[in-house]
This record gives sequence, C-alpha cells and structure tokens, in this order.
Amino acid sequence: MGRALVLNASYEPLCVVPARRAVVLVLSGKADSVHDSDQELHSERLAVIVPSVIRLRYYVRVPFHRAAALSRRAVFHRDDFRCQYCGGDAESIDHVVPRSRGGDHAWENVVAACRRCNAGKGDRLLSETSMDLPRRPVAPRELSWVVVAVSQVPEHWEPYLVPARKQPA
Ligand SMILES: [Zn+2]
Repeated sequence: MGRALVLNASYEPLCVVPARRAVVLVLSGKADSVHDSDQELHSERLAVIVPSVIRLRYYVRVPFHRAAALSRRAVFHRDDFRCQYCGGDAESIDHVVPRSRGGDHAWENVVAACRRCNAGKGDRLLSETSMDLPRRPVAPRELSWVVVAVSQVPEHWEPYLVPARKQPA
C-alpha cells in the first residue's frame, strides 16, 4: 500500500502517512477522504477504498512554519542529486564553510558534492580553492518535506500542494 497526504481542516497540507493510517483516520471519523486511490483494503467484513488524500475534521494548529528537516536525502533532492561544484553525481554532503572553520550544519551551508570535489576541497574555504559554487544553497521551500516523504509526488496531490504555496503568510 502507498501513502496518503493529510490536509488540515483548512486544506493546508500537514504530513504524509502510510495509507493504512489514513484508512484508520477515516474509519474513526477523524478525517474524510478527499481523493481515493484505486486500491482497496479488505478485512473480514468490509472492503474499504484506500484514500490518497484525506482532510482532518478538526483543525491542527501549526505553531510555526516548520523548516524542512536537514538530511542527506533532503539535500540530495534539493540539489537534484548533482555535485554543486562540478555537476557530477552527488555522493556526499559538503559543508561550504567547513565545520572545522566554524561553518554551520545548516541548509545555507551544505551542498551535495561528488567525492572528488569533497575530498579536493577538504578543510579549505571556497576562496582558498579554485572551485566554483554557481548556485547559492538555500533552505528549500516549506513543502519539500512532501517530496522527501515520498519518492514521487502523485499528480493528483499537486492541486492540494500548489495553492498552499501561494497563500500569503
Ligand atoms: Zn564534483
């Protein structure tokens, strides 16, 4: 079974859960399916259509805009699996300002890199090398956690993700 996108009562995307969890939320009356998948879940007595997008019946307060969690996988996704120095295949994470030189482990200071560039740069600052960083690393868009949670965002999720992105703060 796949995964389901969970929307807040306000239709704001909240998280991604295993489809089985989405079925439980719907059956227990905590959420409604707003988009069904083509899968069914069979138990002894009933067959349930597995939802692909559900909307909670209650509003979950999100106290602050969550920053996407910084992980190797998330950085690779942001950087299109390309070494940000030479464009080769990403194999590792490089701290632009090395940690040994006071660099932060933060979105703005990490890039995907191939082993060769990473090793070649070592503990040096970019200015001490002849290497180039054409694209300045930035924290990804707030909703990139959706992309990280599923390897491919289903097409019918897009309408629920796009408006939220455009909503004024
Ligand atoms: Zn490289």
